[in-house]
Amino acid sequence: MDTETQFKVLVEHFKQMEDTTKRTELTSILAHLITSVKPDEIGEVVYLTQGKLYPDYMGIELGVAEKTVIKALAKYSGLPEEKVDEIYKKLGDLGDAAFEVVKEKKQMTFFSQPLTVKRVYSTLDKIARASGKGSQDIKMMHLMSLLNDADPDEARYVVKIVLGTLRLGVADYTILDALSLALAGSKEMRDIVERAYNLTGDLGLVASTLVANGLDAVKKLGISVGRPIRPMLAERVPTVEEALSYMQNGCIAEYKYDGERVQIHKDGGSVKLFSRRLENITMHYPDIVQLALTYINADKAIVEGEAVAVDENTGEFYPFQELMHRRRKYGIEEAMKMYPVSLFLFDIMYVDGKELIDLPLKDRREILWKTVKEDERVRFAHHLESTNPKELESFMEQAITDGCEGLVVKDPLSPYRAGARGYSWIKLKRDYQGELADTLDLVVVGAFYGRGRRAGTYGTLLVAVYDPDTDSFYTVTKVGAGFTDEDLKRFPQILEKYRMPHKHARVVSKMEADVWFEPKVVLEVQAQEITLSPVHTAAFGTIKEGAGLALRFPRFTGKIRDDKSPEDATTVKELVEMYMNQKKKAVANGTGP
Ligand code: AMP
Repeated sequence: MDTETQFKVLVEHFKQMEDTTKRTELTSILAHLITSVKPDEIGEVVYLTQGKLYPDYMGIELGVAEKTVIKALAKYSGLPEEKVDEIYKKLGDLGDAAFEVVKEKKQMTFFSQPLTVKRVYSTLDKIARASGKGSQDIKMMHLMSLLNDADPDEARYVVKIVLGTLRLGVADYTILDALSLALAGSKEMRDIVERAYNLTGDLGLVASTLVANGLDAVKKLGISVGRPIRPMLAERVPTVEEALSYMQNGCIAEYKYDGERVQIHKDGGSVKLFSRRLENITMHYPDIVQLALTYINADKAIVEGEAVAVDENTGEFYPFQELMHRRRKYGIEEAMKMYPVSLFLFDIMYVDGKELIDLPLKDRREILWKTVKEDERVRFAHHLESTNPKELESFMEQAITDGCEGLVVKDPLSPYRAGARGYSWIKLKRDYQGELADTLDLVVVGAFYGRGRRAGTYGTLLVAVYDPDTDSFYTVTKVGAGFTDEDLKRFPQILEKYRMPHKHARVVSKMEADVWFEPKVVLEVQAQEITLSPVHTAAFGTIKEGAGLALRFPRFTGKIRDDKSPEDATTVKELVEMYMNQKKKAVANGTGP
């Protein structure tokens, strides 16, 4: 038995992680956990810590209903289901209910076999794989086998994992940091590990390869068709001139389509589609699968583009919100008819045995054009090669008239930098009068109860920007304007599952919210301007000592950015840039200080 780590070791670390409100502590607890388990368990531990069994792109979910857990607890303990349900209602969490039920029962039983990490993982795997008719019964049976040997704390975490309610707040970057800390890694190691993570999108694989086989093995991890690559991202600047200042090698400007980014993996007769967050979204777009099979002239390829909903009669683009109707579980056929999509391709990363990411963009595009046959519904992103500001301005006007958000301008010599945001790609959007040029994507970290018409729901939400350097979220405003009655109803429903008993370890806030959430949900917010504020923590002390940056007159635009992960939200750095640009403009207009 001494060759396998006991599940108890994991549980002790989970408890500490749950209790901490500091991100540095979270990282060191995780690093300690990594050094406490066997090399061949690392992958499993990494996934379990994030409450899953596999990377998201595999789309394997545990799929256990609350009812099944209640039944399992009842059967295991001999209590009636109603009694278990009552304990659940009283405590408000089925994990906590499991703790109580197992504690009671354990006082009466003597014999049990200690749980190991391997056994828990493989049993959970069986639970995940049971599907179809009678599967809830099979899931229940496996769950009971774990409960039989679990102590109260172990039962609590097993139940939280099967229900998907484990909230340790461990993000991918927390794991990368913890790996560096655990292995006392150099900057070089960190870079190699991060590159592998960007190309494979699979932290369990990277972590286990590193610990079990060393850095050389990690270097060999690369692109594989069927496994999503973390997407390259764009920086934003306010003007064409500024964008051009970064384009030293010429400039390719493309329309910025307002749809959903799709990474298409074709492998013979099979096609998989991944979102910008690396989820498998193949089931939502059977039409794109068909288009890929018909128009990609290669056996194996990875291409990237934007899927946009179009009005078939007029050819006009529908706004992004309409496309989100495609993100449903049922009635796909119907949604496909109501919201047909066109595809606008802009990159290729792999074709028939060749990795293309290190080639310059101009060469990748030529390969893209050769590999894909254009058609009415599969197009290459509309583009213009020019370094003339006037030409680019009018191209941008044209883009907006044609229903796009603006332009993405790209350095023709730049490689595809997976997972990186940089100035080789720059997004340019329209400048609204009297408002900030751009909307912000902000993460909900807390909420305040409403009064009056909003009594019984959240009146305002506390939202934050992201700082990749500290992997933390900093508050920037409270937002309440722009909520429709429908929003007021749906926000509590959407946010409920991310509720935390205290402020999350990766959130930095001076305000005391009524309710705290794990940073997960991203909202698009428009504001009038950015001001200095002593109460918000975003960019605190950067512009002025004792003050952070905050938004004035923030308004929810109606877009919940399901396609963005919290780490894709507006960053502190971008916020500071927006503030500086606003200042520059005010000075130019003579309205500034
Ligand atoms: P944002 O979501 O505001 O950070 O803008 C970047 C996003 O624009 C990308 O993730 C794509 O989904 C989208 N996009 C639309 N058109 C293009 C294009 N021609 N090149 C790159 N990205 C594009």
